[in-house]
Amino acid sequence: MKRVGIDVGGTNLKAGLIDESGHILVERKIKIAAVEDQESLAWTLAQMTQDLAVDGHIPISEIASVGVGVPGAVEIHTGMVLYTCNLPMRNVPLRRLFHHYLNLPLYVENDANCAALAEYYAGAGRGSKRFVTVTLGTGVGGGIIHNGKIYHGSNGMAGEVGHMTIVYDGEQCPCGRRGCWEQYASATALKRMTRRAMEAYPNGILKQVIAENDGQISGQSAFIAARRGDAVGQAVCDQYIRYLCTGIVNLINIFQPDTLAIGGGVSNESDEQLLIPLRNMAAEESIPCNRDRMTRIVKAQLGTQAGIIGAAFLGRKR
Ligand SMILES: [Zn+2]
Repeated sequence: MKRVGIDVGGTNLKAGLIDESGHILVERKIKIAAVEDQESLAWTLAQMTQDLAVDGHIPISEIASVGVGVPGAVEIHTGMVLYTCNLPMRNVPLRRLFHHYLNLPLYVENDANCAALAEYYAGAGRGSKRFVTVTLGTGVGGGIIHNGKIYHGSNGMAGEVGHMTIVYDGEQCPCGRRGCWEQYASATALKRMTRRAMEAYPNGILKQVIAENDGQISGQSAFIAARRGDAVGQAVCDQYIRYLCTGIVNLINIFQPDTLAIGGGVSNESDEQLLIPLRNMAAEESIPCNRDRMTRIVKAQLGTQAGIIGAAFLGRKR
């Protein structure tokens, strides 16, 4: 049997036909701007599923389930999308609408939870029983897998790790609180720290690195400057890793997972500059335990495909 996973992203709907081991067999993508309302969303998902069956040369009856990952809140039991950050829709009964067009089991889930499920089954979390993912992007997303299942809390909203406060009265967060982890550990935060450092030292290597990138500050700027021996760039990296580590250690102390995987654009930095200093700092700060029982901190493996693969796996073991 095959499964379909659909990732509702900021600009695109990406869909893939997946085999049981998590390989994407064929993929399709459309602009999210083409989706006008909830009916057209349901129709589009059904149409993409049928197109994938055609592309994959299989009858639709060979598709065991369809999963949809959205950036927002869902009601998993009813297949309802309560809200998403990127579509102006509220309380969409997606499963019911989808069944007007296609009679296949449909599951909806938060996209960060999908990424965690994908890594658990087919990536960095294989072999773990208790597994946490942290995705460093525009914000900081998280997913918690406990004994093979996504941990949802009482209402499906659990796992919003980016909104734990790590600095009391710190940077304002759109969620309403101050000092949230994502205001310090996201790529957005890293860019803000880089900009402030550049403004404070306008004649340094960091400024030069940014000028070479057409004046654009990226999540890589400070790491590149540090590699060229720049003390200011290195100081930004050190500060960023300290903030990142603070939240990571909070998660380790609360959940003590076997494995904690870090994904998203920032995680692509070299091990020497990111993962190794992070591991060393986390080992010092975590509640002491035997080395063989310590949480392994690793990089996520599936990259931007995790959303599709995890959405497809939603129908597994149900
Ligand atoms: Zn927040």
